[in-house]
Amino acid sequence: MRCCPLVVSAIVAIVLGCDRRETPLTAGGNDSGRANGSCVVELQIPVEADLPSVHAAAAAWSATGGPRVSLVRVGRTTSFEDGRSQVTLGVPGAHCKEVATKGESATCLDHGQEGVTRQRLNQDDVVVESDVVLDRRLLAHPARLYEVWLHELGHVLGLDHFPGRSEQIRPDVSVMTNPAPHGSTRPGTADLRALSRAYGGSCPTRKSPAASR
Ligand SMILES: [Zn+2]
Repeated sequence: MRCCPLVVSAIVAIVLGCDRRETPLTAGGNDSGRANGSCVVELQIPVEADLPSVHAAAAAWSATGGPRVSLVRVGRTTSFEDGRSQVTLGVPGAHCKEVATKGESATCLDHGQEGVTRQRLNQDDVVVESDVVLDRRLLAHPARLYEVWLHELGHVLGLDHFPGRSEQIRPDVSVMTNPAPHGSTRPGTADLRALSRAYGGSCPTRKSPAASR
């Protein structure tokens, strides 16, 4: 239970009244990040995204031995920086316009993007918040929703894009090619190595069934 010190420090921070938002969520913001993150990443999801494919992708990452991805259903989310990691739904292009009218720091889903993840780091380059926006039209396409969400969750956990184009790299090697590859079922072998580098095997391995769609 090498996560215990993290849990303890988080509890201490809360007890002492420290800013909860600065509790590290994940390892550093890239795949060579430090293994100083939490072993549980909590994301708020809107009710309409509370779907089997959304939970299956989270389970697929949780089964890797990296941080466990915990999804919490909420009635309403925002994409503004508020210290909570969350998923919102938008329409590419239109969402960016909507964001522009609301404020400067929200996560913007631009034309041609099926999903986008924006992370907020503290002064030590530790991720303290991840906001994901998914194309709401994916709700009608569970298989593609799974693939895009699986990819974005990799970003949430601190992974960068895998070099090479999606059509050149098989998804069983990496789901982190850009754009999110088609045909992915679980994090690829390169993704697992990146996760291991980032977290150093510091999270306890869990027995979980392989993810399926
Ligand atoms: Zn990406």
